[in-house]
Amino acid sequence: MQASLLGLFALSVFFIGLIHIVMMNYRRNKELMKLAYYNSLTGLPNKANLEQALTNELRELSSDKQPDGKKKAVLAIHCSNLSAINSTYGFHIGDQVLLEFVQRLQNFNQAGTELFQFATHRFVLLVKDYQSTTELETLAQQVIKASDQPLDTVGVSQHMIVKIGILELTSSHDNADEVFTQLSIAIDYIERTDRERYAFFDSDMKARLERQEVIGRELRDFLTHTGSGILHLAYQPQVDLKHNRIIGFEALARMRSPSFGTVPPTEFISIAERQNLIVPLGYWVLETACQFACRLVGEGYPDLTVAVNISGIQFAQADFVERVIEIVDQTGISPKNLELEITESILIEGLADTQERLVELRRAGITIAVDDFGTGYSSFSRLGDLPIDAIKIDKHFIDRILKEKDQKLIIREIIAMCHKLGLIVVAEGVEQEKQLEYLRESGCDIMQGYLFSKALPNGAAIGKLKEYDS
Ligand code: C2E
Ligand code: CA
Ligand code: CA
Repeated sequence: MQASLLGLFALSVFFIGLIHIVMMNYRRNKELMKLAYYNSLTGLPNKANLEQALTNELRELSSDKQPDGKKKAVLAIHCSNLSAINSTYGFHIGDQVLLEFVQRLQNFNQAGTELFQFATHRFVLLVKDYQSTTELETLAQQVIKASDQPLDTVGVSQHMIVKIGILELTSSHDNADEVFTQLSIAIDYIERTDRERYAFFDSDMKARLERQEVIGRELRDFLTHTGSGILHLAYQPQVDLKHNRIIGFEALARMRSPSFGTVPPTEFISIAERQNLIVPLGYWVLETACQFACRLVGEGYPDLTVAVNISGIQFAQADFVERVIEIVDQTGISPKNLELEITESILIEGLADTQERLVELRRAGITIAVDDFGTGYSSFSRLGDLPIDAIKIDKHFIDRILKEKDQKLIIREIIAMCHKLGLIVVAEGVEQEKQLEYLRESGCDIMQGYLFSKALPNGAAIGKLKEYDS
């Protein structure tokens, strides 16, 4: 009797132990499952989870059992400034900001959509039924609007800067991986265009991104002296309208890519700006233009000016003024041979010490022109206070001389006002005789444009100068 009781006891202990082990395993497996399929910080379903969901959706799309014709799409929401938040405030605050941001995103986790966390910085909304692309655009705009509202529960007012890549799922998508790749391409693409906040993936994006990569690499090789001479400067004459003489040139950068041939400056300059190459590129241009000015002096033209375009990023470098003066000294030109063209945005959104920098440059004898005048927001009331010498009226205005009567009058006003402020006026992009006549009548000082000449290689520029001189 006692023996059977003991046996029963041992059996119960054995079973309780077994149940305990099974429970422990179950909990551990559950934890492991959670780790494998959910983000440990936000609790959102993760990439593995999304992969499964996408595999199912793609299977449905390609199978015949899609009678209701539901359209499906994914929106990848990329947090562009999360790294900056983490490094400014620390990861603890970064996590709090992210959690609060996820709460906002949860508002979009409604019937028909599902929210996933693809990576720390990237979320994905799976849209399981939509009618038109406009609906997807509206959704993207709503997410952007929600992100733009400050997040301040952690005491630091921040907002998440998001960029959204949108992809419509089709039966031609083979698997989830292809979807991920295309979403990444769309995100990379918007990250590199400053203006847009969201974009639909299209098949050209990849080619455009590759082109940017190659151009960036070629520029980098050139600037680190490992590439061949793919950059050169062309010089566009500037003509004094009163005396009909060339008084200087604007130096314009030209690129001949080994892979793509001629690349327009607007394209490679903006690639250089985004890939941290504009500063070395800008100094290369400055040095080359100063060498050209030096050559002009050698040819017997000591008073001509060479104008160089300066990017805002380069202007903002702490040692900008110093470097410019150093290059002028090294090339042995007189500072009066150099003009710097800066944009209105440098003047307006610029640094606190923009004015001081300009004063220093002018004190050294270098002249300053405001480029593309009229495209930004410079007001005349401020123009008089600025340490500048000249303004260049943008081509858009010059084009309107032939079209709109009001615009004609505006140009005359601008010229008169600038003269009152002691500024020289340059007209850009003059293509027709009629424009020239009107500008001359209105007292414009200098013109630049195809009517007189395009930008020329240095030999031809000097040739033009001699031809005009004789
Ligand atoms: P920008 O400084 O406004 O330069 C004037 C642009 O107008 C040049 O285009 C010039 O070739 C063009 N142009 C001049 N006259 C005429 C004309 O009569 N008709 C027409 N249709 N166009 C005319 P480009 O060389 O393509 O340069 C475009 C822009 O690229 C420049 O605009 C400037 O913002 C930028 N850029 C060029 N070189 C440099 C550089 O060395 N550094 C920086 N930061 N930017 C540069
Ligand atoms: Ca310019
Ligand atoms: Ca211009």
